[in-house]
Amino acid sequence: MTNKATMNGLGSHFVLVPLTAQGHMIPMVDLARLLAERGARVSLITSPVNAARIKAIINQVKESGLPIHFAELKFPCAEAGLPDGCENVDLLPSPDYYKTFFEATHHLREPLTRYLRAQRPRPTCMIADMCNPWTADVARELRMPRLIFHGPSCFFLLCIHLMEQHGIYDRITDDFEPVLVPELPQPVEVNKAQAPGFFTPSGWEKLRSQALEAESTADGVVMNTFDDLEHSYIELYRKVIGKEVWTIGPLCLYNKDPNDKAARGNKPAIDHHRLLSWLDSRKPKSVLYVSFGSLVRTRPLQLTEIGRGLEASNQPFIWVIKDVERTSEVDKWLSEGFEERVSTRGLVIKGWAPQVVILSHPAIGGFMTHCGWNSVLEALSAGVPMITWPCFADQFLNEKLLVDELGIGVAVGVKVPYFCLTEDSPPVAKRDDIEKAVSRLMHKGKEGEKRRKRAKELAGKAVSTMERGGPSMENIARLIQYASKHGNNDSDQEEEHNM
Ligand code: UDP
Repeated sequence: MTNKATMNGLGSHFVLVPLTAQGHMIPMVDLARLLAERGARVSLITSPVNAARIKAIINQVKESGLPIHFAELKFPCAEAGLPDGCENVDLLPSPDYYKTFFEATHHLREPLTRYLRAQRPRPTCMIADMCNPWTADVARELRMPRLIFHGPSCFFLLCIHLMEQHGIYDRITDDFEPVLVPELPQPVEVNKAQAPGFFTPSGWEKLRSQALEAESTADGVVMNTFDDLEHSYIELYRKVIGKEVWTIGPLCLYNKDPNDKAARGNKPAIDHHRLLSWLDSRKPKSVLYVSFGSLVRTRPLQLTEIGRGLEASNQPFIWVIKDVERTSEVDKWLSEGFEERVSTRGLVIKGWAPQVVILSHPAIGGFMTHCGWNSVLEALSAGVPMITWPCFADQFLNEKLLVDELGIGVAVGVKVPYFCLTEDSPPVAKRDDIEKAVSRLMHKGKEGEKRRKRAKELAGKAVSTMERGGPSMENIARLIQYASKHGNNDSDQEEEHNM
């Protein structure tokens, strides 16, 4: 490659390998479009079912002429013993299949290697999800630099890294015992049940060690966050992992057009126009949006308790209930009274909601969220304060960030993680807890105003970091330059090496 091409960022050809879970794929698809708009070529690895779900985006990309190739590799359901079509974590019949799903992805190693070998021009730099450690072998074989894509907050990644490094959890006997995260500038208390880290259940040891190994041997880390949000944690994280870190978020802000916003993830279950006219008819900042991401499956007892809390709050709301949560019992409860009683102020979306369309509407004044990092960034980018209801993964630590540090969250008070609950567990938050949290968040008084002001300031910072010349956009440019400079552009050399 010529020097001139390198300097222009030409010759950068990324292969993106997302984990096929909504919270991991959605930001990677945004990243693909951002990289391509800034002059890089991109190959995004997907599968038939996942490609069908984002058909609207694929069509938009084709029309716009962006240099992105969506490569559909057959998902190895049969090889791994997964039911046919379970190509995304949110399509699994139950969490009992999670481990089989992660193991299934390892069968993609050969097909991905074959696919990459056959490409001309060949991708020169890989960005692979942390949960796809099998990609390390592929990149090594093709002598291609490999960067980890981390979906969670930097605060969470730093905390679990430090806990791991200091062996803190090895010394405790009670999973709920509070411990301090070492080396942080201020005291942060966690427990193993709420913040266990990656792949920790018993029986997952092999997956865990593969993921940690792939993380430690990666050439750098790409993160969906931004400096103004987590500055001190990003600095410390960079120091403790000793690698290059590119903060390139909030990726959701790539989507400016309502059609782009609505096309993310899956086909919405509600007509766009009906949704917008419902929102347009509401007063500014008066509506609470309630949704728990793509994976949490709220049980019937808890769902009806949420409904009662929303009813008691007297607040206008949009509430998302997933298809998998709709037992006959829940449907009966909704249709025999609840929906009618709240019909003048409540909208229940049954299925996939166009979340970013909703959160960015001026009528939205609050978000009751499970604190998944994408949901947090989407609300924060729109200046929407949150009621925090963490369930698993990075969510309890994200709650701490939102409530204790950023001052834009009100905790509903959940302490027991989702995976500790059984079918018959009583609700973790009761109707009264929900009503109180809603009234605190939406309240017009001083405390509420302060939270809203803070949320607005952060939204301003989020928007400006993603504008041309903003820090995250500059990091995207640096990432493209990195791939130009370090990417393996010489496929013949690799062929010889492997002979
Ligand atoms: N999402 C959506 N509509 C839904 C449910 C989820 O658009 O009905 C999107 C949401 O906007 C976010 C992603 O799915 O981009 C969920 O990611 P997050 O990290 O918030 O949570 P997870 O699903 O991984 O628990």
